[in-house]
Amino acid sequence: MLVYNSQTHRKQEFETIEPGRVRMYVCGPTVYDQIHIGNARTFLSFDVIRRYLMFKGYEVTFAQNLTDVDDKIINRANEEGRTAAEVAEEYSAAFIEQMHRFGILDPDIRPRATREIEAMQEMIKLLIEEGSAYPVPSGDVYFSVRSDSSYGVLSGRDVDQLRQGERVEENDEKRDQLDFALWKAAKPGEPSWPSPWGEGRPGWHTECCAMIHRHLGTPIDIHGGGSDLIFPHHENETAQAMCAWHTPLANVWMHTGMLRVEGEKMSKSLGNFYTLKEVLDKYPADAVRLLMMQTHYRAPLDFTFAHLEGMVGTLERLQTCVKNLRWAAANAPQDGVLNDRDRELGRAVDAAHDQFVAAMDDDFNTAGGLAAIFALVTAANTYLAEAADDVATSPALRAADMLEELTDVLGVKLVSEGETLPAELVGLAAEYAGYAGSSAEEAAEVLLAARQAARKEKNWAVADAIRNGITALGLVVEDTAAGARLRVK
Ligand code: AMP
Ligand code: ZN
Repeated sequence: MLVYNSQTHRKQEFETIEPGRVRMYVCGPTVYDQIHIGNARTFLSFDVIRRYLMFKGYEVTFAQNLTDVDDKIINRANEEGRTAAEVAEEYSAAFIEQMHRFGILDPDIRPRATREIEAMQEMIKLLIEEGSAYPVPSGDVYFSVRSDSSYGVLSGRDVDQLRQGERVEENDEKRDQLDFALWKAAKPGEPSWPSPWGEGRPGWHTECCAMIHRHLGTPIDIHGGGSDLIFPHHENETAQAMCAWHTPLANVWMHTGMLRVEGEKMSKSLGNFYTLKEVLDKYPADAVRLLMMQTHYRAPLDFTFAHLEGMVGTLERLQTCVKNLRWAAANAPQDGVLNDRDRELGRAVDAAHDQFVAAMDDDFNTAGGLAAIFALVTAANTYLAEAADDVATSPALRAADMLEELTDVLGVKLVSEGETLPAELVGLAAEYAGYAGSSAEEAAEVLLAARQAARKEKNWAVADAIRNGITALGLVVEDTAAGARLRVK
């Protein structure tokens, strides 16, 4: 499997530090607002990378932080007359909710910067002992960039040119204008923690590095983030690891291309953004996922709503194909001898699998993976049209299973809602509506009818109890033109 390493600027054979195990970390959001779909693209890319590594049989430990102390959070809190902790709490919850809606797997470890201060201070102490950091009278602690001889390698920058090229704010206390703050002395009204250098808070680069060391150990296999984080964030993260523990921070650095609007990077500061929430309020999450996966994760992605509208149809095409295959298989007679047409579908199933794996093995080429899936959709549709009422069950089911398996690796769910309803619904329907059967789908209908009847009789206690029972199973009642139905949240 080939993976592009931003540090070496080339694709290389993927090798893990421990056999069969991948430890990966992706910088999480600064929680001061709803995230936009540019941020979401980065998180989706790593969700798919993680899923594919799992599909390949790796045991993946995935950590992603929440940056819950930062200037942006403090500014927002001051504007709104709230505490920074309140702002961070609100948007941490909002972020996690939107990630769930978007079908992103929860990280195994989700450290919050404000709960990891001790690990950060330990790292800073070590850096001071090593002569790579120095406290100044105001209470800040700076990292001495010159103490890391490899500084600049990750981002391909030359320290001496940085000195001339980059305009850095004049700061008398820094020994070198390139040095950056590991610890920032508290200003009035800011959240702060006691430290050997006085009250203060950690710098952003300090946070990720210390959390990685504490939760995953260094070096890790994969460190990821958007390409806008390579410099200075990731360069500074890795410099700290080199000087504190004398290990690189990561074996492979992976960076996603920027999502753009009309050629410009989507960002809060430019104001050219759509929040993930507003997009998911209008479009199916899987259509957004398909759109993003049509572009390789390292390439820039030009977002348009016209493209997204098109993806809704593409998603339906995929879903309809699987439904038709299953329906045809369920209604077909017992398999007789397979004919040429049946065998051809069988070969298309194998080819889709092989093409998908070949594409994804080549630095997670999701566009190639999708092409393999859609080639199978085309073959299956042709098969169904030509076979008419002479469908053979086994190749039709194999095709449906393969489509579900491959799309599942990309986090796209093709299984219709009814099939995923939990079995516990049966017990609930027995309790509230005397249901005696065993089908979750039937139980859902019985329960909805019972709730409707209770509401008509103004028996709110029963109506609410049914709704609470349904909600407790992670389901929502959705009112549609054809009546109410249950959906997995
Ligand atoms: P932030 O909260 O600004 O640190 O961003 C969270 C993540 O989103 C980081 O990995 C950024 O690199 C990434 N990101 C920010 N803007 C974009 C964009 N327009 N396209 C893709 N990723 C982005
Ligand atoms: Zn980070």
